[in-house]
Amino acid sequence: MNIHILSLKQQPEPQRHKDTKKILAFLCIFVSLWLYFLTSAVAFAQESSPVNGGWPAGIEYTVRPGDTLLSVSLEIGLDLEQMACLISRSFAWEQPLVVGQKLTVPAAPFLCHKVQPGESLTAIAASYGVTPQSIAADPWNLNGGDEYIYYLRIPLVIPQPPSVADNSLLRLPGGTGGELSAPVSQPLPANWPYGSGHLAWPVYGWITQGYQPGHSGIDVGAWAGTPVTAADRGVVIRAGWSDIGYGNFVIIDHKIDYITLYAHLSDIFVSEGQVVGQGQLLGTVGSTGNSTGPHLHFEIRDFGQRVDPLTILGQ
Ligand SMILES: [Zn+2]
Repeated sequence: MNIHILSLKQQPEPQRHKDTKKILAFLCIFVSLWLYFLTSAVAFAQESSPVNGGWPAGIEYTVRPGDTLLSVSLEIGLDLEQMACLISRSFAWEQPLVVGQKLTVPAAPFLCHKVQPGESLTAIAASYGVTPQSIAADPWNLNGGDEYIYYLRIPLVIPQPPSVADNSLLRLPGGTGGELSAPVSQPLPANWPYGSGHLAWPVYGWITQGYQPGHSGIDVGAWAGTPVTAADRGVVIRAGWSDIGYGNFVIIDHKIDYITLYAHLSDIFVSEGQVVGQGQLLGTVGSTGNSTGPHLHFEIRDFGQRVDPLTILGQ
């Protein structure tokens, strides 16, 4: 009786094993095929044609037909608000650009101030924390000073980062000898917009296209939805949609010559004017704009000029 019951119980087992094996085999094939298609799709992810072409050798830009203030500012890596001080002291937003005009980006960083009627140079200088002499020292500010509407270049003052105490030997008043002070490092203020100059990789992935003539950055293939993070601390100066192929993109000004650009994002989690820290989430990898598959198009501009990110990243 017992043997009979056992045999009855045991008989269906081999059949179940066979079914399990079939299901496992099917799952293995399915998962392998799925991974193959995904990796091959991502491995070739890049722009379907180069974004924006090459870059002129210097930092002098000649206005071309079809240029807009925004497209030129992005191309040369300046904030939109700075453009007036690159074009004309009597700049007018209604007719900002003249085809053929040469725009030369000055060597020193600056802010651009629209002078209001009745404003004095002293008051303007005081509002930016600089001296009137430093404003007058820029020859651009001295041209056409009798114009009613005019823009002044304000030299950008780079404040020193908060001091970090070193391990110096301190002699304390009344003490008998030296005592070693503990190293004290102060955290950076939340609104500190200046980068460290050490740029970190903005995404985990693999390079599908390098920096070359006609391709102004690197393409990093990655799964759609992979986090994209800020390469360094800075201010978000653009966050939104690009009409020239970048799709959803973010530009960060690190205020130390560097500007970084992150393109083809599926989602953007930051907004213009926001200060972001190094490694802070900006958005997610996508394939928006001029793109053949999920990847990050990443550019670095060193004082307005595009450079090969691979020569700078991780240094
Ligand atoms: Zn690209």
